[in-house]
Amino acid sequence: MGSMTLHIPFDNSYARLPDRFYVRQDPVPVAEPRLLALNEVLARDLGLDPAALASPEGLAMLAGNAVPEGAEPLAQAYAGHQFGGWNPRLGDGRAILLGEVVDAQGRRRDIQLKGSGRTPFSRMGDGRAWVGPVLREFVVSEAMHAMGVPTTRALSAVATGETIRRERAYPGAVLARVASSHIRVGTFQYFYARNDMEALAALTDHVLSRHYPEAEGAMGLLRAVVDRQARLVAQWMSLGFIHGVMNTDNMAVSGETIDYGPCAFMDAYHPDTVFSSIDAHGRYAYRQQPQVAAWNLAQLATALLPLMGNEAAIPEATEVVQGLAPIYAAEWTRRFAAKLGLDPEDPQVQPLATRLLDQMAATGADFTITFRALAEGTDLPDLLAAQPEFQQWRKDWEAKSPDLAAMRRANPAIIPRNHRVEAMIQAAVEGDLGPLEDLRAALADPFEPDPRFDHLRVPPQEEEKVLQTFCGT
Ligand code: AMP
Ligand code: MG
Repeated sequence: MGSMTLHIPFDNSYARLPDRFYVRQDPVPVAEPRLLALNEVLARDLGLDPAALASPEGLAMLAGNAVPEGAEPLAQAYAGHQFGGWNPRLGDGRAILLGEVVDAQGRRRDIQLKGSGRTPFSRMGDGRAWVGPVLREFVVSEAMHAMGVPTTRALSAVATGETIRRERAYPGAVLARVASSHIRVGTFQYFYARNDMEALAALTDHVLSRHYPEAEGAMGLLRAVVDRQARLVAQWMSLGFIHGVMNTDNMAVSGETIDYGPCAFMDAYHPDTVFSSIDAHGRYAYRQQPQVAAWNLAQLATALLPLMGNEAAIPEATEVVQGLAPIYAAEWTRRFAAKLGLDPEDPQVQPLATRLLDQMAATGADFTITFRALAEGTDLPDLLAAQPEFQQWRKDWEAKSPDLAAMRRANPAIIPRNHRVEAMIQAAVEGDLGPLEDLRAALADPFEPDPRFDHLRVPPQEEEKVLQTFCGT
């Protein structure tokens, strides 16, 4: 151990909940930890010294080889609907919550290790992760944060020096993830399914005080989560983001994007786009996301029903869940108004945005390039620009004198393009961390692109296109 002492002021509210909320479990040590990435800005935000985290003692903690003082490692219990199928017992099968810290802004944040070894929830899994999904989550979640999207954060990625068996052998890695909590729709479902009303009530109180202090009771909680999720998904849609596995166990009640698996940003716009290799029927396609959010929140409503008065509460709970659609629609309009530099109160925003998207879909226009080019006044995708319908659209849009400066703050110039993420992972597997560092630097401010990284803005050539992403579990 290094001489530098790493002091982390843990305050573990989840560990104070009843025993049946989790299983106490230490991370399983790894062979040879080596730092792949450290988020120094986030570390400081948490009141942690980046140099101490990078020291042998810090690295041992980030790898799961040592449990820091004050941590109370545990695997959280939860259930969930996976692709619509009910699973009464999922839980952290390859993650360990080390504990919570209160950050510089007074916000309580979980520090969790992912890929940290087997737990009682591992079922057939090895409890591990490989470098690919760990670095994908690192880069994509941090890019989402830089774009202003509520999300879990990535503190570090550590190579384990061990080999992970998947469809082939890969180098292992551990991600240290930071979240306002890791409580999921599936956490509520877990206790509901076990008919454990006491736990359900304790969980509700915990979540209300932690995330929604202004809300009251189970109905208030449901209303608040519906509101957050409606806005979150509208924001995803405005960026061309596809989560890929919107199972109820992958939806955080905090309203943060969580559990980056086979997620991706679209290049060419089409609402039916699906990337995930395991999503054969397009359940979680781009255009499905708002409906899926509502479906998931109906499951949350069901789980909360015993606390809301059972049958008597069904009409109101139904109305609350159905309220997602109008909140989503209003937020979508607000986001696309910003993307088009228009007044969100203008009733023409929704039809204008829809006409543009229809033209983009018809011509396969790149989502990010199209909006950014409109903002910058640079060349639009050729096929799109050649369409008479688009030319008419452009006249109608320009007639409204859009605010181009505002557009540049709403439309990222750069996103973590799938082919770049895959190439970065490939390079990292071969020992080259250069592309990882470039992507991180390039995505630090997606709205003010550094010309050094212009090549990372370019959509994939035909042969570079990545058609599928894998969970890598
Ligand atoms: P995810 O696909 O990451 O949302 O995981 C779904 C469920 O499978 C969760 O309960 C995970 O903890 C579990 N899981 C995924 N991968 C593994 C693994 N390699 N070992 C053990 N459990 C896993
Ligand atoms: Mg998950």
